[in-house]
Amino acid sequence: MAEAATAPQGLARVRAALPGLHWIDDAAQVARLSQDFYWYSPVLKRQLAGCVAEAVVRPRSVDELRAVVGSCAREGVAITPRGAGTGNYGQAVPLHGGVVIDFSGLNRVTWVRAGAARAQAGTRLADLDRAAREHGQELRLLPSTYRIASVGGLFAGGFGGIGSINYGPLGAPGNLLGVRALSVEPEPRLVELRGAEALHLHHMWGTNGLVVEVELALAPAQAWAEHIVTFAERDAALDFAHALAAAPGLLKKNVCVLLDPVPRYLTRLHEHLPPGAHAIIALVAETSEPALAELVAARGGTTSYRAAAADVGPRLPTLQECCWNHTTLHALKVDPTLTYLQNSFTPGIHLQQVREVHALFGDELMWHLEFIRGMDGALTCTALPLVRYSSENRLNQIIATLRERGVRVNNPHVNTVEDGKFGGTLAPEAVAMKRRLDPGGVLNPGKLRSWG
Ligand SMILES: Cc1cc2nc3c(=O)[nH]c(=O)nc-3n(C[C@H](O)[C@H](O)[C@H](O)COP(=O)(O)OP(=O)(O)OC[C@H]3O[C@@H](n4cnc5c(N)ncnc54)[C@H](O)[C@@H]3O)c2cc1C
Repeated sequence: MAEAATAPQGLARVRAALPGLHWIDDAAQVARLSQDFYWYSPVLKRQLAGCVAEAVVRPRSVDELRAVVGSCAREGVAITPRGAGTGNYGQAVPLHGGVVIDFSGLNRVTWVRAGAARAQAGTRLADLDRAAREHGQELRLLPSTYRIASVGGLFAGGFGGIGSINYGPLGAPGNLLGVRALSVEPEPRLVELRGAEALHLHHMWGTNGLVVEVELALAPAQAWAEHIVTFAERDAALDFAHALAAAPGLLKKNVCVLLDPVPRYLTRLHEHLPPGAHAIIALVAETSEPALAELVAARGGTTSYRAAAADVGPRLPTLQECCWNHTTLHALKVDPTLTYLQNSFTPGIHLQQVREVHALFGDELMWHLEFIRGMDGALTCTALPLVRYSSENRLNQIIATLRERGVRVNNPHVNTVEDGKFGGTLAPEAVAMKRRLDPGGVLNPGKLRSWG
């Protein structure tokens, strides 16, 4: 099954047929809208340099989307969908020119009901969260890019993040209720997919279907206070973080561990991070703050910063933008020669594994952990270690060593769906979905090994 390369003159015919659409031609804008955050990886930075769309189109309605998708399918013009372009693996970077479809114009919250909400794919997560809060609810989980990232981009390119400590990854059954997808055919069809079937489009980088609407389960809204707790000793910090993450009655939304020297890269929090300290960034419900204070005291920690929920946003920047892959961003601003990895540890032995790899690599890997519940609900931690990059060869050796030690690595230095999170192979149902929704192989070509 070969993927379509953009046909010469095809794009000119698409544009001639649809002159009323919002086309973006300015070269600088087209270049910007052809990028994501792939440059975190020195490997992808080299591989994807110069990959740019021939045009960008920003549909303002589902009818406009359908018109341009149908025309591209007829003319064999490659389509790369784009939300906000905050993905990390070149997911939204067009490898074969063609058209980037920017979903930011499809940004309507369809409805919010008790326990669930539905929104168009281009809706910013922060806007959907705000809409849910008007009904006393909130999104169960958010990437740290929630302010600009889209609902469709999270579904098609993301994993989870803040809130995954309670609800696991987005892909855990019950978080994602359904999607409305659009097939890529001369006469595109809108298809409603529910539950497990919808998940065959999840984290597929927009290679096997376009997402028009997403329906998510919600949680009851809480007032989340933000804390930094510091420890002089690594093991005390790890044990505290695990105890906080595991405490069933203590409501929390995120527990992030920054082992020294990672806190040194968070320059804006300098005054709250004593030199040499290991830091925990915690979001806890204000009703749980007394229980948190007791736990901090019992474990010998120091609370160096606290912000009330009402002050976060209006008066104080949120600590959420120091967690998950934002930590890497802050570090890269200080030292652009760094890169990162993504891995997860085995529940039950996760802290033992952290101690082992911490000792093994010294300061070549600097450890940033995020506690989560896995697909089966077991508590563990994932990591986004900062890597002192020397060569691609050495990076691959590090990945191999981690895997030999039983530590899972979702390689962020590859540009195919299979080789990242999916560890080499794809569920046959995901490929079957492509056959059903993109039979001509027009979507995001070059990113799916199982197809071409
Ligand atoms: C600083 C930083 C922090 C981050 N933190 C997190 C985190 O905490 N958790 C996490 O999971 N990720 C994180 N990410 C990755 C990324 O921000 C999230 O996955 C985010 O949800 C992507 O949304 P987006 O709108 O930017 O998607 P984009 O980058 O625009 O797209 C992502 C993928 O989805 C496809 N896509 C977009 N819209 C559609 C559509 N409508 N139909 C079909 N396919 C589509 C694109 O082609 C692309 O392959 C982080 C990235 C950065 C740079």
